[in-house]
Formats: sequence, structure tokens, C-alpha cells
Amino acid sequence: MRELGAGADVLTRRFTGADERNAVFKTLETEIVREGRRRLEELRTGRRQPQLLQLEQDLATALVGTGFVRVATPAIVTADALAKMGIAAGHALLDQVFWLDDGRCLRPMLAPNLYTLLRRLGRIWSRPFGIFEIGSCFRRDSKGSQHLSEFTMCNLVELGLPLGERRRRLEELAALVMAAGALPAYALVTETSEVYGDELDVIVDGIEVCSTAIGPHALDDAWGITEPWVGLGFGLERMLVAREGLPSIERVARSLAYVDGVRLNI
Ligand code: ATP
Ligand code: MG
Repeated sequence: MRELGAGADVLTRRFTGADERNAVFKTLETEIVREGRRRLEELRTGRRQPQLLQLEQDLATALVGTGFVRVATPAIVTADALAKMGIAAGHALLDQVFWLDDGRCLRPMLAPNLYTLLRRLGRIWSRPFGIFEIGSCFRRDSKGSQHLSEFTMCNLVELGLPLGERRRRLEELAALVMAAGALPAYALVTETSEVYGDELDVIVDGIEVCSTAIGPHALDDAWGITEPWVGLGFGLERMLVAREGLPSIERVARSLAYVDGVRLNI
């Protein structure tokens, strides 16, 4: 029943006996199947793309509309690039990396590629300028209801803004993306890190949907970046979990078992 999409209360309900339980489950199953088929019909005749891709499109439209340039970079990155991100021996993320051959891996984040493009475009474009990418990232932390081994990150970064503007700009960009994702209610939670100073997370109902960073940053040297910047990394599936109040993130993930949140075994 849970896999079909029944609420968590289905596990704790009490019945007088097997007959009553079976009857209740049968009714519930019928309702869930009907609702699932209704949603798939709506997908087919209405929106015609799942919420994940709709969200991707909405965020891209909002960011392009505000002057950011969309980029597309490889999902395969090198161990060197990860090392330049500080992801080397002793770093928690290292154990979560999917390695390929030749010291290459599936990217666990978009930041290394964006650092590279920031520097290369920075030789050519006037300040400030912003770029963003929306794409899959891979981490071996698929346990639990908030983690997928393949998820979709929207990472935006803006380079060359005045130092004193960074915090205000971060808040402005967080608001822009959250509004574009129809998630107007969120909290910005500051976590003070000894090494990097203040780091800001975007939280919805206790769920982290975004982490931010600002530069100058300890990693900038390795990438040849010397100017102030702000960056935000949103998890699109997390945004959908938070917005739709979903019990688990699998439903909105890239999947063969679900389409647009509907389990296909109905
Ligand atoms: P968490 O602490 O929740 O595991 P994180 O701090 O390691 O996440 P970040 O590196 O800050 O994650 O990544 C930016 C965003 O990407 C997160 O705020 C989250 O929305 C999303 N994200 C990160 N890891 C996953 C995952 N395994 N599955 C789904 N979304 C993820
Ligand atoms: Mg984080």
C-alpha cells in the first residue's frame, strides 16, 4: 500500500480482524489506482512533462530572464577536479563518488565545472556576470527518504559583484529561484563554519533544499578566481518533496517505476 502511495497512517491503523483490514485496503487501493490513473491522464493531455522537468524549465526561464546564462558541461569529471574542490582523502564526499576508469568519475556536484567556466568566460565577459547549469549529480548516499544516488542540481553563480553586495544578492537570488519553483515559504539558516565563515542554507519544513557559498573562498586559488562571487546549489527533487509534501523522494526522481509521481504498477 505504501509503494502504491498510501499515507504513512496505513501502517498504524488498527482493525478488528483480517476481513475488515482487507476490505479497507481494497477500498484504499481502488482510490489510489483511480487517482494515479487520473494523474497520468492529466500528464498525457495537459502538462505533458513531469513535475521535475517542469521545475527545471521554470527555473531556467526565471534565471535566463534575470540575466543569467545557461551552460551545459560534462557529467564525467576528473579526480583532479574533485581534488581542487577539496574532495580528497579525509573528505566525507569522497566515499560517495561513483568512480569510472582512468581517475574519472560521475560528478557529485556542478561546482568544479562552473569554476572552470567562470574563469574562462571571465577573461572575456564584463562584470558582473552569472552562469547556471541544471543537471544530474551522482552520490552514493541514496539511503533515507531525502537522498537519491542520481539527483538534479541547479547551480548558479555570479562573479564580480561588489563585496558588500554579496549577502543581499544571495538572498535576492534565493528568493527568485524559490518563487520560480512555487515555494514562497522558506527559511535562510546560517551555519557558521570555522574555515569558510558564514554559510547559508535554504530550508523548507526542516528539509535542506539549497546550500550557498560566497567568495573569496578558500578554494578560489586552485581555480584562479580572485573576485567576489555568490553561488547557490538547489536540489530539484528536494524542492518537489518540500512543495508537494511527499513521503519520499523516489517518487519525483528519474525513474522507471514512477512517472510524474505515479507508481506504474497500478
Ligand atoms: P545533505 O546534507 O542533505 O545530504 P548536502 O549538504 O550534502 O545535502 P549539498 O552538497 O549542499 O548537499 O548539495 C546542494 C543541494 O543538492 C542540497 O541542498 C540538496 O537539495 C541537494 N542534494 C544533495 N545531495 C542529494 C541527494 N543525495 N539526493 C537528492 N538531493 C541532494
Ligand atoms: Mg548542503
